[in-house]
Amino acid sequence: MNLINLFINPYDLTFLISLISNLILILFILRRGYNSMVMLTYLFYLSGTLVMGVGQMMATISFNPGIFEFWNSWFILGILYYPPTILVFTLAFLGKESILKNFLFWVAILTPLTLFLFFTLKIPDLIIVNDFTKAKLYPWGYQVFATGKISPLVTLWYQVCFIPSIFMLVRFYRENRDKIIKKQALLLVIAIIIPYIGGVLTQGILPQFGIRIFPVGIPLNTINIILITYALFKFGSTTIDPFAIASSIIKIMHNAVVVINSKGNIILINPFTESFLGYRKDQLIGEGIKKILPEGYSSGEGEAMTATGQKIPVNIYTAGYTDNFSGYKATILTLADIQVLKKLHQDLQAEKANVEEKVKERTFELKEEHARLSASINSLSVGFILVDQSLNIFTANGSSTKILFKDGPPHQVTFSAISGRLKNSIDLELEVKKCIKEKKIIDFKEIRFGTFFLRIILTPISLGETIIGCAILIEDITEEKVIARSKDEFLSLASHELRTPLTAIRGYASVLEQSGLLKKDPQVKNAVGVIDNSVVRLINIVNDFIDVYELEQQDMIFKKDKVDMPALITKVLKEYKALAEEKNLYLKFTGNQQTPKVLGDFNRIRQVIANLISNGIKYTNTGGIDIGIKKEDKFLRIVVSDTGTGIKPELQKFLFRKFQQAVENIYTREGVQKGIGLGLYIAKLMVEGMGGKIQLDSSNKEKGSAFSFTLPYA
Ligand code: ADP
Repeated sequence: MNLINLFINPYDLTFLISLISNLILILFILRRGYNSMVMLTYLFYLSGTLVMGVGQMMATISFNPGIFEFWNSWFILGILYYPPTILVFTLAFLGKESILKNFLFWVAILTPLTLFLFFTLKIPDLIIVNDFTKAKLYPWGYQVFATGKISPLVTLWYQVCFIPSIFMLVRFYRENRDKIIKKQALLLVIAIIIPYIGGVLTQGILPQFGIRIFPVGIPLNTINIILITYALFKFGSTTIDPFAIASSIIKIMHNAVVVINSKGNIILINPFTESFLGYRKDQLIGEGIKKILPEGYSSGEGEAMTATGQKIPVNIYTAGYTDNFSGYKATILTLADIQVLKKLHQDLQAEKANVEEKVKERTFELKEEHARLSASINSLSVGFILVDQSLNIFTANGSSTKILFKDGPPHQVTFSAISGRLKNSIDLELEVKKCIKEKKIIDFKEIRFGTFFLRIILTPISLGETIIGCAILIEDITEEKVIARSKDEFLSLASHELRTPLTAIRGYASVLEQSGLLKKDPQVKNAVGVIDNSVVRLINIVNDFIDVYELEQQDMIFKKDKVDMPALITKVLKEYKALAEEKNLYLKFTGNQQTPKVLGDFNRIRQVIANLISNGIKYTNTGGIDIGIKKEDKFLRIVVSDTGTGIKPELQKFLFRKFQQAVENIYTREGVQKGIGLGLYIAKLMVEGMGGKIQLDSSNKEKGSAFSFTLPYA
């Protein structure tokens, strides 16, 4: 009758489900192999519930005293056995290795004792009266409630195991940040609390007070198992078993791991050892370590021997191992293949030697180059000084000291000695710093140095983007100056001397022309005309020379006339009218009569305008010359433009230089037209002497050029 009860009674049915699922899980875990402490303790926990559950279920369906007592004893045993299983599982889940070990140690020690006492002292009777006559037949079957003498102790036993478990899990839940782990911990807390409260209450505490209600412990336990199982299988075991991991590491390691016993015989190897040394596992286990390490196994570099007798360089690491219980000793050896390392090391050594050799060669080459360079620098007639950014001198060649220290070089050629020497000529320190900072070449074309003249050029020395110093070139140009000056003086002297006879010739030529004596002979008349023209040209050239000399020596004195420019221009235009008409060119002035007066030497201004107009006529074949005036802020600008040949762009920069004519070859002066290339040079010196500026505004081939100059307002 009770057996039937098992299948129709929902209470017993939950038992059955709980037990079957327990069994399935146990089989599942055993079949899969447990690889972590969590799974192992989980198994332990399942077995606890199983013992308890089977006991109670079988007791309820018992129908005679013997069978009842047997299963009821199992149930009571389960009641004692089950609480620590939850604690053990919790400890494993939380990874509390050391506590767990101690706990398991005590469980192992106390279990046989408990079992012994359990049966000899008839503990079941003390907990739950294990007597069929006392059992009542409840709707779910036979049951005796826990009202034995020590049943309160059992309730306490539950508190001791459950409360720390719940407490630790809650703390773990609160401290952990990983969402999955939190979820898992929460599930475990709920899973443990449900049967704990239900079971302890209905089967432990209430019966003490004579209240016997439906015992919910086991059915709630079913929920507990389902929740824990779900938590574990859904989220996996959160704690990693170090032993499991260690064995996995050893398996995948690319070093040979060999464990030997105290006699030096191999007892364990990892898979890599087989492929590394070419042996099968069974060929090595039990063999002496000498088989693979013939030269011994001290830590450090050594040689391993393969199955084919080949020797491989290895790094050997050794570690001792002693078993805690038995004191059994073993040595763990790892062999790291250093063939590649060795090869690399050798290659590196070879490469190093190679580089050293190259450095040596390069150093020698550099030294040679340096020697050559110093020799060339020293043989220069120009002074050459190299300074770094902090104004320390690297090099100062002989010429530099010869030029600067005519009365013997100082004891030490320092920058301050050199700059001190030049202090009346230039501020060398300031200029060198400027050259380095602004990264530009500074050229002092002519510097007075006592009775001498120097040219000093400062050049920044760059290393990539950075400036590391400055090169100072010093040239003594005194001699050139003297020669140039004597040339100029000669020209000036000669010109002055030439002017008197030339004026006389011109005077007598006009006397002749006017005398009427020449009318009879047109040939003679023509000859005298040519003489007159040539003398005029010569006088102009001579005058130009004298002007140039005076302007260059700054001997020319500019009068400060208040000049009415439109009047002056009109006057000059009249003088050139005939010349322009000869070439069929127009001369046009488009100035305003109300122009303010300018300050300058009337005759010199006239000369400048005359030069520009005569150039215009000279280099124009069709069209003509326009003269204009522009009022500017502080200056009056006079523009002379023509419709002539124009000047090639590349020749424009030579225009205002001495003896320069804008012709193809400025050196040989090929293609020089009449004129000697002094006109614009003189004009420039004169305009600048009067405080103005002269320039070429524009010039286009065959379209004409425009020159302009400025003069300050009076
Ligand atoms: P020059 O006595 O030879 O005229 P300048 O100093 O007056 O000397 O002029 C220098 C050179 O500039 C001339 O030889 C000529 O080649 C060029 N030049 C000057 N003015 C003009 C101009 N208006 N058109 C074209 N070329 C000109």
